[in-house]
Amino acid sequence: MHQVASERTDWNAIREEFPILREHAHGHPLIYFDNAATTQKPRAVIDALRHYYEHDNANVHRGLHELSARATEAYERSRQRVAQYLGAASADELVFTRGTTESINLVAYAWGGKFVHAGDVILLTEMEHHSNLVPWQLLAARTGARLRFVPVNEDGTLALEQLDSLLTSEVKLFAFTHVSNSLGTINPVADLCQRARAVGARTLVDAAQSVGHLPVNVQELGCDFLAFSGHKMCGPTGIGALYGRAAILDSMPPWHGGGEMIVSVTLEKSTFKKPPYRFEAGTPNIAGAIGLAAAIDYIERIGRPAIFEHDARLAAYAMEHLAELPGMRILGPSGRRGAIVGFVMDAAHPHDLTTFADQRGLALRGGHHCNQPLMRKFGLPGTTRASFYFYNTTAEIDRMIDILRDAARFFS
Ligand code: PMP
Repeated sequence: MHQVASERTDWNAIREEFPILREHAHGHPLIYFDNAATTQKPRAVIDALRHYYEHDNANVHRGLHELSARATEAYERSRQRVAQYLGAASADELVFTRGTTESINLVAYAWGGKFVHAGDVILLTEMEHHSNLVPWQLLAARTGARLRFVPVNEDGTLALEQLDSLLTSEVKLFAFTHVSNSLGTINPVADLCQRARAVGARTLVDAAQSVGHLPVNVQELGCDFLAFSGHKMCGPTGIGALYGRAAILDSMPPWHGGGEMIVSVTLEKSTFKKPPYRFEAGTPNIAGAIGLAAAIDYIERIGRPAIFEHDARLAAYAMEHLAELPGMRILGPSGRRGAIVGFVMDAAHPHDLTTFADQRGLALRGGHHCNQPLMRKFGLPGTTRASFYFYNTTAEIDRMIDILRDAARFFS
């Protein structure tokens, strides 16, 4: 019989490669289910950071010496690796940033400042993370542009039957998340990009919750911009990237000024490098970029289809058993979805539930998850969220269910 990719993988051996998973919290073996906030790091990534600082550390693109050449080569090799991982046509389409938030702000300032005018519309959805909402509110305040939102249905999917009336010729940009960080919904990115293109709108995909979890190819998706964070896919914090189609990046002015991004400077005036360097002012996070490339190598050795299958099985298992608990409401779609399960229990406020779990070694997240408008829409103060990654196990989910069952008794 044909074996699916995830069944050929030794998940227990992979788990052993994450030293932190041997930690205890409040005297209990750690169960880490806060992967949508940040993932843990395998030894390969930790070693890559250590190797860089022990052997190659110097500033990039500057010194005419051996270490600077090594650092520059490793940094630029990382850019190539990220570009290849995302299926970009060229490494020049890849700007290193601090992460998703900075990538989106870059587009809002550099692209938005030039191309968005009073009366134009930025189309978003009601499920956006604050990172893909606040930069557009600020742009709207600066320019007089308007924001419009695709509603979210009760089951956590987008109300796409309304898209034709929302995606009009006034829309300059349609910016939306690939995978919702509260609901686990996977949006039909390629279809949304194609529909935006048909009205002449640009597209930005917030891929924070997708690039480390499922295959993502920018050319197949047909997006103009895509933003993500390294720390949500086994990489270090403080590094991520913006993918932008070459012709669009070329048309954009700089946003941060400083070293590295200039060709020549007089006291009055400067000329700027071409992308991606035009958008990377100052000393970049060199170690972070190298660590991110190591994370990509690590993820690709396992394979994103195998990771997706494994995590989807964990999510389905968790949803089945959560539903057996008293007074439980689970958010988001029941079909194909990301490994993010948000829920509320009648008996306890999400913060109390999360603290109860923490006392037993279980790291969940409780609150609004940077989705305040979405929580308001569902009439909730927040949710408790369990989010899984490939090193998690069904045994850990069994333990979570036991803890939540105890919590239901304790709080009622
Ligand atoms: N978008 C989504 C969907 C997210 O889940 C997050 C992180 N929770 C972000 C954006 C922001 O990512 P970062 O804080 O790494 O910039």
